[in-house]
Amino acid sequence: MSVLMSLEGVNKIFNRQQPDELTALKDITIDINPGEVIALTGPSGSGKSTLLSLCGCMARPTSGMITLEDRQISRLPEKFLAKIRRDRFGFIFQQYNLLRDVSVLENVLLPLYPTGMSIKEMRRSADDVLQRFDIQQLAAKKIKFLSGGEQQRVAIARALINQPDIIIADEPTAHLDSHLASELLEIFKSFAREGKNLIIATHDPFVIHSSLVLRQIDLRFGLLEKDILK
Ligand code: ADP
Ligand code: MG
Repeated sequence: MSVLMSLEGVNKIFNRQQPDELTALKDITIDINPGEVIALTGPSGSGKSTLLSLCGCMARPTSGMITLEDRQISRLPEKFLAKIRRDRFGFIFQQYNLLRDVSVLENVLLPLYPTGMSIKEMRRSADDVLQRFDIQQLAAKKIKFLSGGEQQRVAIARALINQPDIIIADEPTAHLDSHLASELLEIFKSFAREGKNLIIATHDPFVIHSSLVLRQIDLRFGLLEKDILK
């Protein structure tokens, strides 16, 4: 089978040619296969979030090549990257990045606004994901009134509303108690069974050593340290 995504000699340098220049990623070469669930590990500052942002088309590498299927994405203008993000990716962040003063429904709908979908279709998609995560009764509630577990489900519902096939998660269990972490892991397992790809930056042994994760890519000082198939 052909690879889903490939990174070839990828470098990311911040503040180039300035006194505070910093190489966050150095010569990263990785092939990601369709359906893979990857844990991206490494100490704080090793470049995990930076690598996620490149894989998720949120940023471009300073040099090197990234392809998604057969398409070179590393040099695409933002307009095209935004479309690829909408069509292919779902994002789950550590702090969820939900708008606290806005309703659950509005938060979940956010990724659909730029798609040009009709309001009716948007509502149908929202109903589907809210139902899937059993939060339809919370649709009108503001985020600030929800429990941690409810917020987690809203964040996941929002990440899924565009039916992405690649889910990017940055330290998703960092602020969760063990009950919520288990719940999240079960949801991730259901994504994996659907054939979705997951790339999860994490230092949580509970995630790394779970049956969900079949491959661990470990970074150290921006370098690929090891790439282990479990
Ligand atoms: P991790 O997620 O593994 O903790 P990051 O990818 O966030 O690591 O960061 C890698 C390095 O790049 C760190 O030294 C960090 O300070 C630096 N860095 C990250 N983002 C930026 C940025 N936007 N500007 C400058 N430096 C950055
Ligand atoms: Mg990080």
